[in-house]
Amino acid sequence: MRCEIITVGTELLLGDTIDTNSAYIAQELAKVGVDVFFQSKVGDNSTRLKEVIKIAQKRADLLIFTGGLGPTEDDITKQVLAEVLEVSLYEDENDLRRLQKYFAERNLVMSANNRKQVLIPEGAKVLENKIGTASGVLLTKEEKNYILLPGPPSEMKYIFSNHVIKWLESLNLNNEHIMSENLKFIGISESRLENELIDLMHNQTNPTLALYVKKGEIHCRVTAKVQNKNEFLNLIAPIKNEILKRVGEYYYGSDELKLEEAVGKLLLERNLKLVTAESCTGGLIAQNITQVPGSSEYFLGGVVSYSNTIKENILKVDAEILNTVGAVSEQTAIAMAKGALDLLGADIAVSTTGIAGPGGATAEKPIGLTYIGLVSKEIELCEKKIFFGDRQEIRANAATYALNLLRK
Ligand code: ATP
Ligand code: MG
Repeated sequence: MRCEIITVGTELLLGDTIDTNSAYIAQELAKVGVDVFFQSKVGDNSTRLKEVIKIAQKRADLLIFTGGLGPTEDDITKQVLAEVLEVSLYEDENDLRRLQKYFAERNLVMSANNRKQVLIPEGAKVLENKIGTASGVLLTKEEKNYILLPGPPSEMKYIFSNHVIKWLESLNLNNEHIMSENLKFIGISESRLENELIDLMHNQTNPTLALYVKKGEIHCRVTAKVQNKNEFLNLIAPIKNEILKRVGEYYYGSDELKLEEAVGKLLLERNLKLVTAESCTGGLIAQNITQVPGSSEYFLGGVVSYSNTIKENILKVDAEILNTVGAVSEQTAIAMAKGALDLLGADIAVSTTGIAGPGGATAEKPIGLTYIGLVSKEIELCEKKIFFGDRQEIRANAATYALNLLRK
């Protein structure tokens, strides 16, 4: 099946909004073996949208639109498609009830133009949106399939993952396609990982291996051409085993699994409660951890002790340490973690103190220098690292490193 993704919105053409919807949809389609040969972007203009639809009909069997399903004048996608296909629009009763409930639950008044959002092309299936106003639409006509999705990425993803994928699976497309698993590593450099795996990389044709650097992590993508998921899993099993035998200690998970999720799982399994004491990362570790639903099971909270005053008065870091070896030091990192444990009462504490730059460096303490402390009843350790990059990269890498330390 050949697909064309059509994103609608003048803000996309102006570059005010970056089109992330196409990237998401293309990635998801690749996983189920649907080829995306073209992606089009068009403004909120009916003449040009019609033109794009007519071109796409000639070169695709599946046209997926995002954007322009809102209530306002400039939201025209459904109306234009209906015109091109010569189908009428009707007000869908079920979808109207859903929308009325949506507004009522939020104590909002539904305005008259919102009714436009429940206009559905004759013969189409409604792809229910439980998190926003406009539902999606699936319409098949003259052997072409049309899917309309709202523009806001969270709503688009909701409908795509809950409805579109199921529909695609129901078609039983059994064409050979490319599948991959992304193995994620932390704490090993790209060059070392390559050295460890180079013979495997050279000797493989199906699957193939490729390394990528991503935000303080190294990813190894294992890619294969297969008919289905089972074949894929069988094909990659031996090579995955071999990779993990060699560098498994740096591996934390695959694909969508994030480091903070892997860490959360471990803390939960070990029944440990965590607290943080952050200086240079300014709360980033806590932010990462709390992105995971259910993190309240293992994360109690933290102190952002950016100033020496807070380090001294709240975390009880000895003034002597701050005045002699300084805030960016092993002693301070350890004392911060201990202070957080005492103050907040947990099983384990992680701390960061460092120089994120661009100012504040000295000959002995360069930009990027960071101490990461880890303290529990059994452990008391501090790692000294020099992270590279700009201020935000240094802070992000320090937070990633600190999170990864929790896996030890
Ligand atoms: P709404 O009801 O919010 O008007 P809509 O379906 O009409 O939804 P648009 O008005 O086109 O969608 O877009 C709404 C918002 O969604 C945009 O302001 C933009 O922030 C985001 N958005 C739209 N298209 C994309 C895209 N292709 N990639 C990323 N974000 C997008
Ligand atoms: Mg809109």
